[in-house]
Amino acid sequence: MVYRVTLIPGDGIGPEVTEAARRCVEATGVRIEWEVVEAGEKVAEEKGTPLPEEVLESVRRTGVALKGPITTPVGKGFRSVNVALRQALDLYANVRPCRWYRGVRSRYEGVDLVVIRENTEDLYAGVEFERGREDTRQFLEFLRKLRGVSLREDSGVSLKPISAWASERIVRFAFEYARRNGRRKVTAVHKANILKFSDGLFLETARRVASEYPDIEFEDRIVDNMSMQLVQKPELYDVLVCPNLYGDILSDLCAGLVGGLGVAPSANVGERGAVFEPVHGSAPKHAGKNRANPTAAILSAVMMLRHLGEAEAASRLEGAVARVIAEGKRVTYDLKPDPSDPSAVGTREMADAIIEALERSA
Ligand code: NAD
Repeated sequence: MVYRVTLIPGDGIGPEVTEAARRCVEATGVRIEWEVVEAGEKVAEEKGTPLPEEVLESVRRTGVALKGPITTPVGKGFRSVNVALRQALDLYANVRPCRWYRGVRSRYEGVDLVVIRENTEDLYAGVEFERGREDTRQFLEFLRKLRGVSLREDSGVSLKPISAWASERIVRFAFEYARRNGRRKVTAVHKANILKFSDGLFLETARRVASEYPDIEFEDRIVDNMSMQLVQKPELYDVLVCPNLYGDILSDLCAGLVGGLGVAPSANVGERGAVFEPVHGSAPKHAGKNRANPTAAILSAVMMLRHLGEAEAASRLEGAVARVIAEGKRVTYDLKPDPSDPSAVGTREMADAIIEALERSA
């Protein structure tokens, strides 16, 4: 079987790390026809938009994309490429595995968590009222009349919509993910004690969905307590399912638990497709220098292989990454105890080492 996959190299270090990931995927023997399409800074200059229609067309057609990071031009008014992709494919679930690999310097060892974040609602729904505007004044007046609530007239307001429908969809996704990936527990994160009608609805829905999955343990945590527990005893947790804002914050916290950006992969998944990308940005200062750590992009490709149903190839590639990191020899500067260690290798050479480890395991 040959899979068609959209490859978006992206900006900065994107082309280098996605090339490393592409070579590693090909070395697994899984056959992929890549549709390479350009998005980001370079095309923005040429075509006047960082997200040309052919990119969206390709992702809609293939339903699967491996993507490099894209620089967000400051002050040029381009819509965010990531938001546009998410909307075009209705990518409602953000999945961030946070797994510690032996050899990565970190305060914690043995952490193996997955943060699943709802991507479409909550404070990120984009329903905001700017201080001082006429529509804001009318909204504040409406609140006063409807609920007798008097907010200061110099307030700005951001709404936090959470629906039963989207909550059910994300919690179900989390349980299905847990089942498919042999996970034992799902923890719903919320602040339902205070936000009774938004987070309360999320929690109520999570409990109802959980009753349909008796094979997976379920519990809930209030987000502040969750933050402390993750720092004190992260090994107690497995899959976390969160509304948008808490998921955003906790997924970075969890990436920090396992060694940070260089090793953090992610997926944005919907019914019609999925986009896999490293969590890190385009790191312009390393661009074109064959210096960036390709691990996050390669682990994103591991997630992509699992999504395509190539679980065995995915596990072999992940194992090869883990062995190269544990050995600690042919790794990039950021994975060395001393970042100025002259024995650090480049992006390409670390990918070569992973491919050799993969071939040795075949
Ligand atoms: P960044 O992730 O690019 O860099 C943060 C720090 O981590 C820098 O010191 C960088 O050198 C280092 N770093 C990141 N990835 C690395 C790697 N693979 N190997 C070694 N070191 C690495 O974050 P930033 O500087 O805030 O953002 C730069 C640009 O990337 C911005 O334009 C931002 O909007 C964009 N960005 C894009 C995405 C995306 O497309 N998904 C995500 C985050 C940031």
